[in-house]
Amino acid sequence: PTPPPLLQVRDLNAYYGQSHVLHGINLHVQPGEIVSLIGRNGAGKTTTLRSIMGALRSRTGSITFDGQDILRLPSNRVAARGLAWVPEERAIMSTLTVRENLELPPARPGGWTTERAYEAFPVLRERGHHPGSKLSGGEQQMLAIVRVLRSAPRLLLLDEPSEGLAPVIVQRIGDIIQELRADGLSVLLVEQNLKFATRLADRHYVFVDGQIVEEIPRAEAVARREDLLSYLSV
Ligand code: ATP
Repeated sequence: PTPPPLLQVRDLNAYYGQSHVLHGINLHVQPGEIVSLIGRNGAGKTTTLRSIMGALRSRTGSITFDGQDILRLPSNRVAARGLAWVPEERAIMSTLTVRENLELPPARPGGWTTERAYEAFPVLRERGHHPGSKLSGGEQQMLAIVRVLRSAPRLLLLDEPSEGLAPVIVQRIGDIIQELRADGLSVLLVEQNLKFATRLADRHYVFVDGQIVEEIPRAEAVARREDLLSYLSV
């Protein structure tokens, strides 16, 4: 029997002021699953992540995590339940060192230690005393991911983790995501990089104009590459 979903979003509608941006989104993430949200810029993927985290409050529908309603919780309490969000802009503190950035979130039992982060990405150890402002895009992305792992999340929301990164770094980040999943973490990721998304994700939801128009399992994604590309192109 299929276990109950870790995250379940039902009939989610979201608004920026008068502008109705998400129109009845339904999606779920099973424990240990990697799920991708794909679609062109402005289709509503980031808004979906922000709605789940409680960073966007103007919305209706139902969002449950581990069977409990999180729609009405503020972001900090959503995070305390075990969701972690790495926004596209990564939010590295430019005046703090790499190590200080790493040690910013509250440590929770089972969360990553500084040592574990340095083992995963040795370049962060080398840069440990450098200010955040001196990091390359790839280093910032690595730091942003390992930083949220300190609080031992159960579901990681990643917004375009591969954006602007060299192929070798994208590869490394993909490896880490797979290792995290092997440790039992679930991942919901927004991606424009189809190769990266199809390598990692068990399922894809395709967004068009604030709606999900298709759900594509891993087994179909490769064969339907052309269809997926057409959803991404402008
Ligand atoms: P991207 O990859 O560019 O982030 P996306 O699929 O994640 O694209 P969203 O960022 O969720 O799309 O944007 C969905 C819609 O909401 C777009 O029409 C966008 O212009 C609008 N939007 C996003 N942020 C705001 C905001 N702060 N205020 C008003 N409208 C916004």
